[in-house]
Amino acid sequence: MCLDINNVSKYFHRQGEQSLQALQHIHLSIEEGEFVSLLGPSGCGKSTLLSMVAGLARPSSGSLKLANQEITEPGPDKSMVFQEPALFPWMSVKENVTFPLRKSMPKQDREIAARQYLKMVHLSQFGSNYPHELSGGMQQRVAIARALAMDSGLLLMDEPFGALDEQTRHVLQEEVEKIWMDTGKTIVFVTHSIREAIKLSDRIIIMSARPGTIISDFKVDLNRPRQQKDMALLEEEV
Ligand code: ADP
Ligand code: MG
Repeated sequence: MCLDINNVSKYFHRQGEQSLQALQHIHLSIEEGEFVSLLGPSGCGKSTLLSMVAGLARPSSGSLKLANQEITEPGPDKSMVFQEPALFPWMSVKENVTFPLRKSMPKQDREIAARQYLKMVHLSQFGSNYPHELSGGMQQRVAIARALAMDSGLLLMDEPFGALDEQTRHVLQEEVEKIWMDTGKTIVFVTHSIREAIKLSDRIIIMSARPGTIISDFKVDLNRPRQQKDMALLEEEV
């Protein structure tokens, strides 16, 4: 699904203080099937931008469109993974995964769907477990499976591996890359790691703060094999 962000600004009004401009004149078009990484220092507005795309917040001015429809609220056409898995502790893993489907799918079909999505994140054995019985990395995989279960064309990931150790991060990077290749979803991926961005995405967008603006937007060279591209750019220490 193509995403069009047109001249978006966002202010936060805080009582007794000057209002804060989190984003200024953001223009951005993302094509269907692109895997875009969004980088920039803390506070530059990455999460604010993503939450508006998710329909969780509204811009102060400008417009955001998904498949030419104005984004006004959350919906099944977009799903989001946050830095923390935010699972329901009282629900089993499979109930967590199919929670977004509870109104649209009968129980039996939800069982099948849970199995399908847990398999994609290599958690087939853990459907009946509860979140506290899983490691942090496994919980984050459940959150990814839940986002996939919505089967939306647009997957938003806000520093999804930020809280994980290096090894788990690598495993999940590979899973996300595979999911992207298998499903052709449009992915917007916020990360602090340029290495992660280079490894995973087609295109990198860099923002700066005060107020949040886009300062760089470039395609990662697709003509070179992934690993080679990764290494070459890392040596330059971008
Ligand atoms: P990032 O995700 O890039 O670290 P955020 O989008 O979280 O940045 O925040 C951008 C700016 O907006 C920061 O200065 C932050 O303090 C401010 N901000 C974010 N959300 C709110 C909010 N709900 N109320 C007030 N200020 C906010
Ligand atoms: Mg953030």
